[in-house]
Amino acid sequence: MPPILGCVADDFTGATDLANNLVRGGLRTVQLIGVPKPGTAVPDVDAVVVALKSRTTPAAAAVAESVAALAWLQAAGCRRFFFKYCSTFDSTDDGNIGPVADAMMARLGTDFTIACPAFPETGRTIFKGHLFVGDQLLSDSSMRHHPLTPMTDSNLVAVLGRQTARKVGLVQYREVAAGAEAVRGRIAALQAEGCGYAVVDAVSDDQLHVIGEAVADLALVTGGSGVAIGLPDAWRRRGLVGASGEAAAAVPAIAGRAAVLAGSCSAATLGQIAEWQKSRPSYNIDPLRLANGEDVAAEAMEFIRERIADGPALVYASAPPETVKAVQAKLGRAEAGEIVERAMARIAQELVAKDGVRRLVVAGGETSGAVVSALGVSGLRIGAQIDPGVPGTVTLEDPAIALALKSGNFGGPDFFAKALAQMP
Ligand code: ADP
Repeated sequence: MPPILGCVADDFTGATDLANNLVRGGLRTVQLIGVPKPGTAVPDVDAVVVALKSRTTPAAAAVAESVAALAWLQAAGCRRFFFKYCSTFDSTDDGNIGPVADAMMARLGTDFTIACPAFPETGRTIFKGHLFVGDQLLSDSSMRHHPLTPMTDSNLVAVLGRQTARKVGLVQYREVAAGAEAVRGRIAALQAEGCGYAVVDAVSDDQLHVIGEAVADLALVTGGSGVAIGLPDAWRRRGLVGASGEAAAAVPAIAGRAAVLAGSCSAATLGQIAEWQKSRPSYNIDPLRLANGEDVAAEAMEFIRERIADGPALVYASAPPETVKAVQAKLGRAEAGEIVERAMARIAQELVAKDGVRRLVVAGGETSGAVVSALGVSGLRIGAQIDPGVPGTVTLEDPAIALALKSGNFGGPDFFAKALAQMP
């Protein structure tokens, strides 16, 4: 049986977040990194998520990549499709949500889909078409200052309306509260009015199941990872996927040495580093020494090697905001980020190639991207959730590597030790 679901995600950690929810819904899921090359074997799973980096690229490039990924998923035999973007609807009037969704609809020969970034469990709710982040309207949240996609309008009907020539309607809270039949009725009415999109209200997690049931027969659903929660059960009721179970998260166990690499400077990561340092070894990478041409990566690897027989060590570049600002003032923001990412990538690569490391915990979205790309990983089989939004994963390559990839603020204080204990 080919996979039922093919997903296109506009960034890497967002793809993992979606895949994690699909596994929780009982779908065996693989995340592929970048548009799969022609001839890539179709994995024997229920859902495939293609992770792109198309959130903030020019719209034409995002459309081309997304359509190429969709074409591969269609050829792989998928029958339902999902376009995943951020639960804060990160985009500008130029795109990329509207243009990508328009192009995917055109390719699928459908003229209607929903747009629903709601994920109440994580504080993203939609009421009367307005997106809230926690208790604040999107336009009052910190997202209004985002450097690339400042969100200054909370009205998603209006925001999406500026990104597409299609008419955008709204499925209101009262219809969602009345159940799947009422949502389907409203969708039919909107289609009759000529709408190509419906933003769908949702304020509680059970409403994601109502929405899932109502849209389970659409060729394309667009939204955050939350709206994917209601789809697996709805497809199961239609006999499109097999019985749910823990088995969806079953991935091969990976034996081998372990290490932890942290490049994220988020508050959560700094707390996780402090917690680790209470009882375990750590080595700090100084970006200024890297910029000076000193071989700090080699020192870090030496540090890990000397201790590896006794257990994993942490290598981190993470620093509090004042330190990061001072480093950025000297090196430039992009250059500082890149030299640290290059060092982390090289450490990961050499530990795997020379030291028998097969289990890696990585903190930071960009840092994870750099590590995965240095390791030449083409895809990840998604395992059980470690902490909300972060599953344990196993690479598709031979030899397989177990990876726990965590973006910025994810994970509890003991995440590193917990990930090492729980990952495959
Ligand atoms: P997050 O998921 O928290 O955003 P990322 O890995 O995506 O984490 O981004 C963190 C960025 O900060 C990376 O580019 C990383 O290389 C960079 N970085 C890490 N440590 C430092 C530091 N001490 N000074 C400056 N930049 C740093």
